[in-house]
Amino acid sequence: MAEKAKVVVEYKDKRNSSGRVIDGVIYLSISNQISLAEKEEHIRKLTDKLQSKINWAKNYNFNNSKGIVKTNEELSRLAQTINTAYYNYPLNMVEFHKQNSTWGTCSLKTKNIYISNRLKGASLDLVWYVLVHEICHLAEPSHNQRFWDLVSKACPTYKECRKMLKAYGMQIK
Ligand SMILES: [Zn+2]
Repeated sequence: MAEKAKVVVEYKDKRNSSGRVIDGVIYLSISNQISLAEKEEHIRKLTDKLQSKINWAKNYNFNNSKGIVKTNEELSRLAQTINTAYYNYPLNMVEFHKQNSTWGTCSLKTKNIYISNRLKGASLDLVWYVLVHEICHLAEPSHNQRFWDLVSKACPTYKECRKMLKAYGMQIK
């Protein structure tokens, strides 16, 4: 039997219930406008769904053979290498930053890219994908077809990488 994740339940004055996983913990936001039986049903269904996602993530095979990136210098060097090889967009600073709800952000104004601390020590494939994603936002702010075409230049396996990133997000604690 797989280990069960911790579940945190919060009741909200809204119609729908929802849930998400942050660092291996299941957070549920349950409607206050339904009966007790329905609340229990929502909690059970959402917990089952999210627990099975966590189990899937735990079984995900990460390939660390290509090395890992831990410091701002390594991160910045990798970003500049990718940018020079594939894009050549104006790019300033690239640094790890404390951010829990996103993997990366970029500023069109300053041309800086910030990558979540949670990716320190992650497999190179993941950091590569997140860097490519943010670099492409320098040229295309929306997630439209043009954006994904740009991403696929430096990261043809980006669909797999997105899946990998989801699995990674559920694994880290
Ligand atoms: Zn994006």
